[in-house]
Amino acid sequence: SIPLGFFGGIGGASKSGILVKGSNYLEALNDVEYVVFDKTGTLTKGVFDVTEVNTNGSFTKEEVIEYAAFAEVYSNHPIAESILRAYNKDVNKDSIADYEEIAGHGIKVRVDGKEVLAGNAKLMNKENILYQEVNTVGTFVFVAVDKQFAGSIVISDEVKEDAKQAIQALKEVSVKKTVMLTGDAKKVGEAVGQKLGVDEVYAELLPHQKVEELERIDATKSSKGKVIFVGDGINDTPVLARADIGMAMGGLGSDAAIETADIVIMTDEPSKIPTAIKIAKRTRKIVW
Ligand code: ADP
Ligand code: MG
Repeated sequence: SIPLGFFGGIGGASKSGILVKGSNYLEALNDVEYVVFDKTGTLTKGVFDVTEVNTNGSFTKEEVIEYAAFAEVYSNHPIAESILRAYNKDVNKDSIADYEEIAGHGIKVRVDGKEVLAGNAKLMNKENILYQEVNTVGTFVFVAVDKQFAGSIVISDEVKEDAKQAIQALKEVSVKKTVMLTGDAKKVGEAVGQKLGVDEVYAELLPHQKVEELERIDATKSSKGKVIFVGDGINDTPVLARADIGMAMGGLGSDAAIETADIVIMTDEPSKIPTAIKIAKRTRKIVW
């Protein structure tokens, strides 16, 4: 049977916008040693703005954005939304065929019969495209048309207002280490990690590599220690499922993430993680 006090704990958490799906997860929050974060949508707002467009010379900036917008029209990735917002015109879906979204890479599609690629350096390398980087820190979306590099779109995301304070507060509730896992470029991951005071950053990870990284971290915890993974569920549902405590962002998060998670943060604020740990500690005192 479940001690009555747990109901108080779960109720208290829900009043703070933290949905705990079982008393066992509330109990587990007492022994958290590592908190592992996804970057986009979890520590950052996941709302990107296009800040720069570069071309190879034979395409105009407008064409680069246009090809990218056509490529991204079926994607629900935050990057896609930002490109479609920058394009700000209707996309004729009749011109799109063979749409393929490659997790951790980007999009491959046919637009009016031409093959269009929109994605990161991994995608360009995979498709043998000679691309050019410019010296800007940001998330790059490279665009290629019929195997020819057309240009790049630089987009930047902002950290959430409470993210830095959340990382600090986790230390105050005895969390040993905070870690960030991201599919984004190393430069971007490290800049965000440093800004927020995250202990360790692992970047350029594919979805399955995020699971492997979590397993490696998991193997270093103490016997009763617990690992939290917090994500928005776009490309990280397998990690959410694998963690001792999977936490999802309820607002930005995908339906699959909310379904898979053990705890849902309804307000999308990372500072709710230390709050949840505090509620768990108070609940344990009342129950035992
Ligand atoms: P994160 O770990 O930051 O949440 P994801 O795993 O969702 O990132 O994506 C990793 C990287 O893959 C992105 O930073 C981007 O470079 C590329 N990518 C993923 N989806 C898309 C897309 N729809 N369009 C362009 N690039 C994408
Ligand atoms: Mg993500």
